[in-house]
Amino acid sequence: MDHFQIRNGEMHVEGIALSAIADAVGTPAYVYSTATLERHVQVFRDALAGLDDPLIAFAVKANPNGAVLATLARAGLGADVVSSGEILRARAAGIPPERIIFSGVGKTAEEMRLAIEIGVGQFNLESEPEAEMLSRVAADMGRTVAVAYRINPDVDAGTHAKISTGKSNNKFGIPYAGAVDAYARAAALPGLQIRGVAVHIGSQLTDLAPLEAAFARLGALIETLRAAGHAITVADLGGGLGVPYDPALPVPPSPADYGAMVKRVTAGWNVRLIFEPGRVIVGNAGVLLSSVIRVKQGEAHPFVIVDAAMNDLLRPSLYEAWHDIRSIRPTGRRVVVNVVGPVCESGDTFATARDMDSVAAGDRVAFMTAGAYGATMASTYNSRALTAEVLVSGDKWAVVRAREPIEALIARDKLPDWLG
Ligand SMILES: *Cc1c(COP(=O)(O)O)cnc(C)c1O
Repeated sequence: MDHFQIRNGEMHVEGIALSAIADAVGTPAYVYSTATLERHVQVFRDALAGLDDPLIAFAVKANPNGAVLATLARAGLGADVVSSGEILRARAAGIPPERIIFSGVGKTAEEMRLAIEIGVGQFNLESEPEAEMLSRVAADMGRTVAVAYRINPDVDAGTHAKISTGKSNNKFGIPYAGAVDAYARAAALPGLQIRGVAVHIGSQLTDLAPLEAAFARLGALIETLRAAGHAITVADLGGGLGVPYDPALPVPPSPADYGAMVKRVTAGWNVRLIFEPGRVIVGNAGVLLSSVIRVKQGEAHPFVIVDAAMNDLLRPSLYEAWHDIRSIRPTGRRVVVNVVGPVCESGDTFATARDMDSVAAGDRVAFMTAGAYGATMASTYNSRALTAEVLVSGDKWAVVRAREPIEALIARDKLPDWLG
């Protein structure tokens, strides 16, 4: 079921008209649906039914808003984090420490110390120097921490180059070929308890074949590692499942298809599985609400200039990503236009030659499927304040991040004495 629907000529999020939110908090603003978040958790959980106690650790970087995290925490999810900031956010949202998985290629000693103090459940290590650093930090604290190595399976995920992470030339994980030696060395380090293996090959995957190939390699490695005497009790299969953005493209595999493949490939592994979904949980649960500032004549097509920009939603300029853009009060008339933001970069373009609802100055539009990698990637480029974020639940809604006053942004800069 879709919780973003036109009723009485107006787009609603659950029971709330988007125009009411725009009137009250202004635009641009991100708006999230609680019912959609909860539904996505349920669909993902159902897809894994039959597995023995899987851990679903939401990839916090996809949407770290405190209210979104608290909603997911209540639904029982853990967290996959990549910084001490994300650990603190996950804890603040009520996610138990043992359900937190600490990933990332550049963990510092300070971040490791914080993670150990808080008691995170598992460290996913991405290099041998990192293992040595964690060993020193843990041993200094008199602690032993559970670790897995993230394996780079050298598989092409078939997604955009900037979100592919599982080829041998990517910075992520340790090479598959060197894994057995790396585990042997890690086993000899104090403070580390080897617990498992991990893999994550990329994001917005629209084909299960590369995932299956990566998982099959992981399965073979588990056998080799066990034969070498390591107790492998956990396998972390990462995230990456894609969501539909462009209705003209084939629909990506469903969580149910993904779950069926996982169960087939991992049968007999005899491990607890960990999953780190991000986009598939939050992507379709959010929109970016924006207003049309004006429409300007263009050579091939008119430019629709909206008040959201690349600093608010970076994906189109970073990855050539496609977001459906709809009028929140569609008339049925269509136009072919370029949709752009006000930022002084040609990359600040959301859509080119787009067939979409006809809009005029003052109308509001919704960028669909903006719940993942949206607000979290925002910057203040062009001295634009960070947008407001709103969470809807049934016929209730609340501002879950206030729009940053521009004065606060400016006041963060400090003048040195000699300019005072
Ligand atoms: C980003 C990331 C994820 C989540 O990826 P999605 O495509 O959003 O599901 C999971 N695990 C790791 C290690 C990541 O870096």
